[in-house]
Parts: sequence; structure tokens; C-alpha cells
Amino acid sequence: MPEAASPVTDRPADQTAAAIESQREVLLTRLLDYLAQPSVSATGEGFPGATQRAVDELRLAGLTPQVIDTPGRPAVVGHRAGPPGTPTVLIYGHYDVQPAGPRALWNSEPFEPVIRDGRIWGRGTGDNKGQHFAHLQALRMLLETEGGYPCGVTMILDGEEELGSPNLASLVAENRDLLAADVVVWSDGPVHESGRWCVLHGVRGILAVRLTCRGSTRPLHSGNFGNIVANPAWTLVSALASMRDADGHVVIDGFYDDVAPLPAAESAAFAALPLDLEHALAEAGASELDPSHGDLSYYERLGAIPTLTINGIETGDLKRTIIPNEATARLDVRLVGGQDGQRVFAAIQAHVAKVAPDVEVAFEVCVPASRTPLDNPYTPLLADAVASATGEAPLLIPAYGGTLPDYVWTDLLGTPSLGLPIANVDEANHAPNENLEVERYLTGIAISVAALRVLGARREVVA
Ligand SMILES: [Zn+2]
Repeated sequence: MPEAASPVTDRPADQTAAAIESQREVLLTRLLDYLAQPSVSATGEGFPGATQRAVDELRLAGLTPQVIDTPGRPAVVGHRAGPPGTPTVLIYGHYDVQPAGPRALWNSEPFEPVIRDGRIWGRGTGDNKGQHFAHLQALRMLLETEGGYPCGVTMILDGEEELGSPNLASLVAENRDLLAADVVVWSDGPVHESGRWCVLHGVRGILAVRLTCRGSTRPLHSGNFGNIVANPAWTLVSALASMRDADGHVVIDGFYDDVAPLPAAESAAFAALPLDLEHALAEAGASELDPSHGDLSYYERLGAIPTLTINGIETGDLKRTIIPNEATARLDVRLVGGQDGQRVFAAIQAHVAKVAPDVEVAFEVCVPASRTPLDNPYTPLLADAVASATGEAPLLIPAYGGTLPDYVWTDLLGTPSLGLPIANVDEANHAPNENLEVERYLTGIAISVAALRVLGARREVVA
């Protein structure tokens, strides 16, 4: 049913909505054009043109851009001061994308974006070009209508987020002054599963380790050598089995030691998030919830408690009657606020040394968790901005289960960092037929304009 045209009022949010509506075609055309530039960090497809394109877009939005070289793909940073006394927001996004993957699985060309069924289809639509481009268009609108921004803005576009941002921490450490801000805002990943807009306050980190147990110099006949030569697969699975109890609680000494106690407000915020458990399980193809931490709410388990996951075990083969000569397992730990990945690694090492000294423990990767407290001064401002732009208060999510390099802002710079995801839940990021709903992109622009306005209005408080 078509909606009745809303009366034009003098509310800034209504004016923004009207301005976006009147520029709808151009805002979409610009995004399609931006998406058509490949920028695959893993293969180099589209580089260095992609970096130049990011520079051009920052300049068009009114920022003074510069390229920051890294040992990998460059980052692009732009800045524009706000009126005196206003805070500075650092907007983080990434201009690199995942490889397109098999063309046959796409309904249209990954780098020839099209609009179909109310969605923009193409690689990078949701992850992350469509999302940071919404901010760029918000800045451009403000520049064109008001000659500047209501607050200071620095924008950084990472060129290798899809590679795990291997150089971001050192880049941030070396450019502290350039990146100094009162608050960081990033738009990545989807909105809440319910489709509601949300403000995210953190992410879990990740630690990955590899356990290897070696036995004989070659696979052996299980009849001729069984009971004679030890089997590394048994050693490995025994070591793994010793890490959790029957309830799924990790029993490695010290594993939970540094988990920061969850303030009551955050526990309540997790519990208040809408949940359709049946749908969530169906989406996961699971019939029941894992029993671990069954006393906690669904989202608290996801955001506030570390995991210990066996990603896979490799040993022997399934066709021969052998004693394998080597067994390997890869584990990941999703870290939460307070945990230090190196200390968790040491705890795993110490546990394995005690129960299975022949098993070697190798460190693979660690990205710390991030956490901005719910009661930081910027959450109410961004929540107001989302409410004024969308007509509905956003969900406040203390932490998200996945991992982003958000700690570079919260831990390295000590800056509060808040996520304002724009993409639809079924954005199919990293997959074929990645897409972004047209209305979410346009609403994202409205949210960004509103956010910049409320941050600018904070002048008296910081001045
Ligand atoms: Zn991604």
C-alpha cells in the first residue's frame, strides 16, 4: 500500500529526508559507479585505481585526503575541521572487497552493479562500500547545503580489512595525531537479525591456535603395530576432550580469569534484544542450543562469553587401517572484553603441557576484543540520531559475536567506538549476489547526517 506523503515540516530530519528523496537517483548512480571499481585486496584486482578512487570520493565529500602507505594495500585518510569547540568523529570503513568468487553463482556481474527488486547487487554493496559511501554522501550533502560539517570529521578507509587488517594497528600507532578523535563510528556488518537498526558497543576478538601431535615417522599398519606404537590421534583427541566439561564449560586453568564482569546494564541490554529462537536455530540448521552457558541469555552468550571452538581435526584417512603418524587440530577462541589473547594462549599451552606434553601448541593469530561501555556519552547522541532519522529507537547492543579490528580505536587510541551498521541481514557479504537494500542505503545517509548534527550540537559540553 503506498504511504501518504508526509507533510514537509521544519524538523531537520524531515528536511534531510526530503533532500535525500529529491537526490535519490544521483545518490544511487554515484554508488553504482563507485561499486564498479574493483578493489580486491587479496588479488590486487583494481589496485592502485581503487585507492585513487577512494581519495577522489573523500575529496568530493569535502575532506582533505591523503594516502597512507602500508606494507600491503594503502589506507586513505581525510579530515575536515568542524566549527570551533565541536567534537571530531572518526569514521572507519574499508574500500577493499572480497574476491567475487565463481561468476556462475552470481545473477549479475559482481563489478557491474545493478538495481533489482529494491536492492543494489554487486561485490562490496554491503561490505563495505555501500555503508561508508552513505557517510560520504551525508558529508557531501552537508558540504553542498551548509558549506561544511556540524562537527569535525576524519574518515579512514582501510585497504585491507578483508585480509584481516594486518597493518592497521601499526598504522594507527604511527598516526595517533592524525586519527585523534572524540568518538569513532563505523558502519559494517548487518543490522540486528530482527531488521531493527542498532548501535553496537564492541566485538569479540579472536585467537587461533594449532595443536599438532606427531607419532611414528610414517603411517603404520594398525594390526602389525596396534598396542605397540602410540597413536597421535588418540593423544590429540584426549587433550582436546580434557579442555571442556560435560556442560561445555572450558576447564583450562585461567581461561575465564580475565573476563571482565558484565555490568548489570549490559546484561539487561543483552537480555532485552529481540530473539526469535526458532528462526535463529532454523537459520543455523541446528535443532537445539549448545548447552554451554545455558544460564545466560542468547545474546550474552554470543557477545560476552569467550568460546573455545574446534575448527577441524586432520589425521590419517578414512579408508585405510592405519595408525596415523600425525594429528592436527585448529582451535579458535572468541575473546571478550578484558581477555588478553597472549595470556589465553599461555593458558592453553600450560594445559596441553600438563595433559599431553607431546602435543605441540602453535600460535596463529590474535585480534583483541573491543568494548565501549554502554554509559559512554556518545550512545544517547547516536541513538537520538537513529531515532530521528528512522522514527524508531535503535537497539543498544553491548557486543557482537564476530570480530573486527575495533580494538585499535578502543585500546590503542582509547577512543569510544560505536557501530552503526546499515546493511540488511541478508546482505550476502563474502558470498555470491552480495546486495544492499536501496532504502537502507538512503536511510543510512539520513542517519549519518543526523549523527553529525547531534555530535555538532554537543559543542557546549566539550567546549
Ligand atoms: Zn568483509
